[in-house]
Amino acid sequence: MIEFRQVTAYQQQTRVFDRLSLRIGPYERVAILGPNGAGKSTLLKLINRELYPVAQEGSYLKLFGSETIHLWQLREKIGFVSHDLQENYTPFTTALEVVVSGFFGAIGAHEHLQATDIQVERARETMRKVGIAQDDACLFQRLSTGQRRRLLLARALVHQPEALIFDEPANGLDLGASQTMLALLRSFCGEGRALIVTTHRLDEVIPDIDRVILINQGRVIADGLKADILTSKNLSELYQTKLNITEKNGWYRCWHD
Ligand code: ADP
Repeated sequence: MIEFRQVTAYQQQTRVFDRLSLRIGPYERVAILGPNGAGKSTLLKLINRELYPVAQEGSYLKLFGSETIHLWQLREKIGFVSHDLQENYTPFTTALEVVVSGFFGAIGAHEHLQATDIQVERARETMRKVGIAQDDACLFQRLSTGQRRRLLLARALVHQPEALIFDEPANGLDLGASQTMLALLRSFCGEGRALIVTTHRLDEVIPDIDRVILINQGRVIADGLKADILTSKNLSELYQTKLNITEKNGWYRCWHD
């Protein structure tokens, strides 16, 4: 599904990746963990085609087997939820308009004017799925952070994509909203689709995730089965502080001595 081969990429003057190689297959459920500045957002921008790698010999970035996949095709296959997205909506956009905008790969208040009845019905159905159908006429600015996040999830899912990429799904949410969001992700995984979560929190590594990739300073530090990677040793090294990791019923937690 995603293949980075010796990818070099910059954010302004900063070289974030220097010949990074990474493959993520269809149906995989992956968490990408790393400290602030590790390169997680840059990685997502490359996948989302917001950023392009440096063209160099032996290097490519393939999505669904293609280096030149059309943006609209990519949007149908992968749903994205990022924090930038949340900040880009105007306060006067309604909840339904946000979800419908997913069909147009755009943000704004006018896409619903072009939407077909089928698209609007699909948007409402997706809103029901994430538990916010009752808020469809509500203005974005009136919604709580948890409702907004669910709305952006509905926007990402409106195409029924093969994969979902979610940047820090529970970040900034209160306890109840976090648990709701993680439960929604678990039900998405239950439908047999791929999930990629970037995070620095262990509760976001839901039990359905089986592969964990640790990155730091633009390099893959460890990559493998969750139980092998989420160890006290690995995470203490990654975050440069002594951390103790335990697991219960598939959920991981971490504490400092
Ligand atoms: P993470 O998401 O893991 O916190 P980022 O991908 O945001 O990491 O950042 C990776 C590196 O790229 C950091 O060194 C960061 O300072 C740099 N960086 C990110 N965005 C920009 C930008 N817009 N301009 C310059 N440097 C950036």
